[in-house]
Amino acid sequence: DESAGSRESSAWLDDLAEQFAALRDPLNALDQRTGDGDLGTNIAQGLSRAARRGGGDLGSELASMAGAFLDEVGGSSGPLFGLVLSEIARTAGDGAGPRDLGRGLRSGVEAVRRVGGAEPGDRTMVDALAPAAEREALDAEAVAAAVEGAESTRTMTARRGRASYLGERVLGTPDPGAVAAALLLRSIAERSGA
Ligand code: ADP
Ligand code: MG
Ligand code: MG
Repeated sequence: DESAGSRESSAWLDDLAEQFAALRDPLNALDQRTGDGDLGTNIAQGLSRAARRGGGDLGSELASMAGAFLDEVGGSSGPLFGLVLSEIARTAGDGAGPRDLGRGLRSGVEAVRRVGGAEPGDRTMVDALAPAAEREALDAEAVAAAVEGAESTRTMTARRGRASYLGERVLGTPDPGAVAAALLLRSIAERSGA
């Protein structure tokens, strides 16, 4: 059926799934210090399911990722990454470039902020996504802004998610969702040729 994706295998999704399988333990370790220790498992599962769905071009690959996160991943990261990925996927049709993806990222960040209620500075994935979305395009500068944004969460206490129960104990550790968001944006930007 259509929700299962194209069934055409995608070398990019296979590679991404492999990369994040290797990052499962390190990302879980970050979430162990600031939450419940499952962020790496959640992301690795979403990408492994996305790889199983496959895809032909970037648009269908992103749609597979979005569908996998929305349908098959729990926690906060499943629905919220699903949302941002589905907005980027909508702009990634034929002939789409970094500016189109940047537009998708902007509406994705708006959707995440609307649904999750997080503002920049609350120590969530929004701290990586929002600075990238301020750029005109999803290009190398946008990726650098996301990486810097993720890094900046080290000095933030949380107002959203499980980390908000831990107060200052999270200081020094970056928000795992923000770290994962920056890595995903980097892969997407590279895939789009930016
Ligand atoms: P859970 O906390 O349910 O185990 P995950 O571990 O899958 O969820 O994801 C945790 C990540 O989700 C956090 O690191 C943070 O980046 C992000 N997050 C949590 N709550 C929110 C929110 N309300 N808005 C945006 N992002 C959030
Ligand atoms: Mg967690
Ligand atoms: Mg959890």
